[in-house]
Amino acid sequence: MEGKANEAPTIGIDLGTTYSCVAVWYRNRIEIIPNDQGNRTTPSCVAFLDTERLIGDGAKNQIAMKPANTIFDAKRLIGRKYSDSMVQEDMKWWPFKVRQGPSDTPKIVVSYKGQEKEFFAEEISSMVLSKMKEIAEAYLGKVVKNAVITVPAYFNNSQRQATKEAGIIAGLNVIRIINEPTAAAIAYGLDNNASIIGKIKVLIFDLGGGTFDVSLSTIEEGGIFEVKAVAGNTHLGGEDFDNRMVNHCVREFKRKYDVDLTGNQRALGRLRYACEKVKRILSSTTQTTIDLDCLHAGIDFSMKFTRAKFEELNMDSFNECIQIVEKCLHDASVEKSSVDEIILVGGSTRIPKIQCMLQEFFDGRELCKNVNPDEAIACGAAMMAAKLTDDDDTTFQDLSLSDVTPLSLGVETTGKEMNVLIPRNTPVPTKKAKIYVTNNENQSAISIKVYQGERARSTDNHFLGKFNVYGIPPAPKGVSQIKQCLEVDVNGILTVTAEVLSTGESEKLIIRNENGRLSKKEIEKMIKDAEKYKLEDQEFKKKMDAYNALENSIYKMKNKINEYSITKNLQPGIVKKMENAIAETIESLENNRDAPIEELERMKVFLELVCMPLI
Ligand code: ADP
Ligand code: MG
Repeated sequence: MEGKANEAPTIGIDLGTTYSCVAVWYRNRIEIIPNDQGNRTTPSCVAFLDTERLIGDGAKNQIAMKPANTIFDAKRLIGRKYSDSMVQEDMKWWPFKVRQGPSDTPKIVVSYKGQEKEFFAEEISSMVLSKMKEIAEAYLGKVVKNAVITVPAYFNNSQRQATKEAGIIAGLNVIRIINEPTAAAIAYGLDNNASIIGKIKVLIFDLGGGTFDVSLSTIEEGGIFEVKAVAGNTHLGGEDFDNRMVNHCVREFKRKYDVDLTGNQRALGRLRYACEKVKRILSSTTQTTIDLDCLHAGIDFSMKFTRAKFEELNMDSFNECIQIVEKCLHDASVEKSSVDEIILVGGSTRIPKIQCMLQEFFDGRELCKNVNPDEAIACGAAMMAAKLTDDDDTTFQDLSLSDVTPLSLGVETTGKEMNVLIPRNTPVPTKKAKIYVTNNENQSAISIKVYQGERARSTDNHFLGKFNVYGIPPAPKGVSQIKQCLEVDVNGILTVTAEVLSTGESEKLIIRNENGRLSKKEIEKMIKDAEKYKLEDQEFKKKMDAYNALENSIYKMKNKINEYSITKNLQPGIVKKMENAIAETIESLENNRDAPIEELERMKVFLELVCMPLI
C-alpha cells in the first residue's frame, strides 16, 4: 500500500459543451479544483494562434479577436458523421471551418502558427481534457493518470467511444464513462440506498451554456438508475441569454449615441464577455452596471442592467424550459405531484427566476440545490472515481448506482425482423448470446446487422453496424450454428461477436470502429501529436518566461540607475558602461524577437553581471 499514497487519486471530469469541471475526492472530501485563473469551471475552448495554443479561459477571452481559429462546441461534433443533419445545421453558426474528412468524419480546420491544420473533434476534446488534467495535477502536485468522464445520457456508442478516445489522446486512463444525470444523482446523494423505499422518481433539470436537458428517471433500491424519458432543446442555454443581453446593449448604444456597432466584431466580443459577467452577477444581486471604455467610435459605454430587465429579455426561453419539463413528464406518464426529487444541474440554473418558475410549476416544492449546479456532475464523477479506485475505503461502500441500456439492442433476422438480445433498461454491464442457424443450403457466410430501438422491423430502428462471418463449412440449411453475442460494458459501449460453433471461427465488432472512425494507428498518432503540442506549449511558455524575466531585469536596472542615491557613489565610467549595456540589451531584444531561450538567458546574465554594482 506504500505506493498508493504517492499515486494521484482518480479525478472526475464533466466535459461540457461550453464549460468543463474537474473534481477529486481528496483528504476525505470532494474538492472542485479551481484552474490557474481561480475559476471552478473552465471554458471547453481551444484557440490556435500565430505563436501559441490557448486552452480554457485564455482561449475564450480572445475569441472575438480570432473567431475562425477559436474552437468550441467540440462536444456537438464528437462521434458524429459530417453529413449528420445536426452537424450540418450547427456548422451554419460556427465561425470556424469544418470539412468532410475520410469516412464522412468531420474535421475542424484552423490555421496554427501560420499553417493550415486539421483536427478531429476527439483531438479538440482531448486538448480540453488535458487542460483539466493539468489543473488537477497543479492542485494535487502529482501526475494524474486515471479519470471518470461523463457524457449525456442520450450519447450513443459512437459518441461514448469517441469521448473515451479523447481521454486516451489526452494521456488519461479512462476508467469509466458515466451518464451526466447519473453523476448528478450521485452528487445529490440519491444513491444512498437507505433513503430509497421502493422506487423514487427524479427529475433532473440541466440548463447549461448551450443545451437544455431534462430527464425523468427512477432509482430503485439497490441503486438501479433508469432513465424513463428525456426531453430538451439542443440550442437553449446561457449563451442565448448572453446574446439577448448583447442585442439589448446594441439597441441602447444606438438609441443613446445614434451609432450602430454591429459591424465591429471586437466591440461585440467585448460586449458579450461583459454581458456574461453581468448575467452571473445578476444571479446574486438585483442590479449592476456594464462599463466598457472606448467600446466603439471612441465612445465609453456605461449602462445599468437590472435583474428585472434580464428576466424580461429572456422570459420566452424560461417559459420554454417549463414547457419542456411538462413534455418530459408527459412522455414518462408521470404526474408532477408524484416526482420525488427535483434536481438542478448546469450553470444557468443559478438564475433565480428559473428556480422560482420551476418551483412554482411543482406547486412550491423544494428543489435540490445543496450542491453547486454547475459542479454537480463533476462532483458525482469524482465520487464514482473514488468508489472505483479506493477499494479499501468504506466511504463509498453504499454508492451503487448503475446505468441501464436506454434502448433495446438486437440483430436482424430473416424478413428484416428485429431480434432483441438485450431489452431496454437492462442494467449494464450485460452480455447476452443467442444461437442462430443458417437459412440456406451450404451457406458459407453470414452477415450480421446490429440495430438499436423498440420497433419490430429492424429497418425502423437505428442501424449501428454490420459485419460478415465467413468460412461456414458446407452443410444443409439449418444445421450450421452461429453464436451471436452482444455485450455492453460499464461505459455503455457495445461489442458484438459472432462465432461459427463447428469451427470456432469468430469475428468481433466494436460498433464504432466498424463505422469507419478512428483506427488504433490514428489514435496512436494523435497521442503523439498531443504530446508534441503540449511540449510546444511548454516551450513557448518557457520562452515567454525568459523573455519577461529579461525585460523585468532591464527595467529594474534602468530604474536603479535613475535612483540618484545608488549611482552617486559610483564612478561615472561604470554608470556609463551600465547604461550602454542596458541600451544594447534593449536593442538586441528588439532586433531579435525570436531569440532562443538560451540567448535570452545569456543576455540576462550579461546584463546583470555588468550591472552588479547596482544590485
Ligand atoms: P455546460 O453547458 O457546458 O455543461 P455549465 O453547466 O457550466 O456548462 O453552464 C455554463 C453556463 O452557465 C454559461 O452560459 C454560464 O454563463 C452560465 N452560468 C454560470 N454561472 C452562472 C450564474 N451564477 N448565473 C447565471 N448563469 C451562470
Ligand atoms: Mg453540462
